Amino acid sequence: MLISKLYINGEWIEPSTKEYLTKIKATTGEVYGKFPAATKEDVDRAVDSAYDAQKKWERLTSVERSKFLYKAIALITYRKRELAEILMDEVGKPEKEAYQEVEGVIDQLQYYAEFARKITGEVVEGTKFERIIYQYKVPYGVVVAIIPWNFPAAMTVRKIGPALITGNTVVLKPSSDTPFTAAWIVKIFQETGLPQGVLNMITGKGSVIGDYLTSHKGVSLITLTGETRTGQRIMKSASSIMAKLILELGGKAPFIVWRDANIKLAAKVLMWAKYWNAGQSCVAAERLYVHEEVYDEFINTFINMTKTLKLGGPRESDMGPLINKVQVEKVQSYVEQAVAQGAKVTYGGKKPDLRGKYKGGFFYMPTILENVTQDMTVFQEEIFGPVIGAMKVHDFDEVITLANDSDYGLASYLFTSDLNLGIKAAREMKFGELYINMPGPEATQGYHTGFRLSGQAGENSKFGIEEYLKVKNIYTDYSKDPTSGEVIPPYRR
Ligand code: NAD
Repeated sequence: MLISKLYINGEWIEPSTKEYLTKIKATTGEVYGKFPAATKEDVDRAVDSAYDAQKKWERLTSVERSKFLYKAIALITYRKRELAEILMDEVGKPEKEAYQEVEGVIDQLQYYAEFARKITGEVVEGTKFERIIYQYKVPYGVVVAIIPWNFPAAMTVRKIGPALITGNTVVLKPSSDTPFTAAWIVKIFQETGLPQGVLNMITGKGSVIGDYLTSHKGVSLITLTGETRTGQRIMKSASSIMAKLILELGGKAPFIVWRDANIKLAAKVLMWAKYWNAGQSCVAAERLYVHEEVYDEFINTFINMTKTLKLGGPRESDMGPLINKVQVEKVQSYVEQAVAQGAKVTYGGKKPDLRGKYKGGFFYMPTILENVTQDMTVFQEEIFGPVIGAMKVHDFDEVITLANDSDYGLASYLFTSDLNLGIKAAREMKFGELYINMPGPEATQGYHTGFRLSGQAGENSKFGIEEYLKVKNIYTDYSKDPTSGEVIPPYRR
C-alpha cells in the first residue's frame, strides 16, 4: 500500500495530527493508499513556506526559473511509464489515455518553459514629452492551486508551470481522489533541485481546510479547476483577501450534427467527446442535437460504435470506470430522472456485469438516452459520466438558441459542411470553445476559458500565463525640473 506525506518547505512530513485518509482504486474498489489529512496548522506552514520562498524566487530571471521546468520535462520524459501507471491505478484510465495525459503534461511544461523569454511589459508615454510610464508584469506572490481528479497530472502542471515561470510560489492542493499523481509530480520537481518552499503540497478534507486555505492572508492568487459550486464557494471565501481568481469550472457541451454533416466523422468524434475518460471531462459532449433528416442514420451509427466499447482494466479496455461510488450513484440517478421525465434508454442505462477483479470497480455502461427535451435535468445539469441525451432539431437558429440556453459555456461542437453555418455558429454560439468538424480537447497554445457559470479568467496560451502576472506602473520624468511648467491632467487635453 502506498503512503504519501505533506510536502512543505522542501521536506516530506507527517500531518500535525498524524491523521491519514484512504484512497480507493477505481477499477477494483480495493485500497490503493493512505494520504495525510492536513490541518489548519499545516496550511499555515505551507503558506508561510511559500511566502518566504517567493521573495528569492522572484529575483531569479524567468530564464533561470525555466531551467527547473526543463529538468522536470527531461525527468518526466524518461520516467513516463511511472506516471502512466499511477494514472491507470488512481483514476482507472485505459493505458492509451494514461499515456496521452503524460504527453499532455510534457507538452504543457514545454510551452511554459519556452515562455520564459516572452514575458513582456509595455512602455507608454506620460503626460509630458520627458515622462515615460513603464508597465512591468510582476508575480502575484503565493498561488494556491486546487486540482480536480479527472486529469490530475495535466491539471497539476497546467497550474504549477505558469505559476513558477512567472515568479510565483505554489501551495498545491490535489483532489482526495488523486493525491498520488500530484505527489509523483511534486517529487519530480524536488529532484530538479527547486529551492525549498517554492512548491508545497497539502492534502486533506475540503471541509476542514478548504475555506481556511482560500481565505489565508498569505495567499494572492487562487486557481481552481473543479465544479461550479466549488468555484462559487471559493469566490465567497477569497473575497476577504481579495485574491485574484482563475476558475475553470463545469461544462455541458452541446454537440450539433447538421443535415449536411459527414455522419461517420461526427459519430467517431462523439465516441471521443462522450467516452474519453468515461465522460468525466469538462469538454465532454453532454447534449446531442441532431437534424431530423439524419437523426436515425446518425443515432444508429453511434449506437453501433458504442456497442464495440470494451470496459475493464486499463490494459484491456476502451473505457475505464468512474472515479468513485458516489459518482456512479450520481450518474445512475441522472438516468433514472431522465426516464421519469420521459426519456428512453436506447443503450446502457445501468452498471455493467463485469466479472473477476473488476466486479468491485466503479463502472457504468455507456448510455444513450433519446426523446430528451431541453427542460429535462439531464440537459440542464452536468452529468460527468458516459451518458448522452439526444434531441431532434430542424432549424439552425433554433439549435443555436438551444445550445446557448445553458448555465454552462465551456466547449461546444458543430458538424456541418456548410461554411456559412460554421461562420454563423462561430459568431453566435456563446462558448469559450467551438470545435467545428473536429474533436477536442483544447491545445496548450489555445486559451481555455468558460462563459457563464463555467468560470472566469482562463488557462494556457499567452493569455493564460499572463493571468499569473500583475501590472505594476513606474512613472519617470527625466527633465531637469519635473515640477516646472504645466502638468497637464489628462482630462484637459
Ligand atoms: P470538485 O469541485 O469536487 O473538486 C475540485 C477540487 O476542489 C478538489 O481538489 C477538492 O478537494 C477541492 N475543493 C472542494 N471544496 C473546496 C473548498 N471549499 N475549498 C477549497 N478546495 C475545495 O471537482 P472534481 O469533482 O474534482 O472535478 C470535476 C469537476 O471539474 C467537473 O465539474 C468538471 O467539469 C470540472 N473540470 C473543469 C475543467 C475546466 O477546464 N473547466 C477541467 C476539468 C474538470
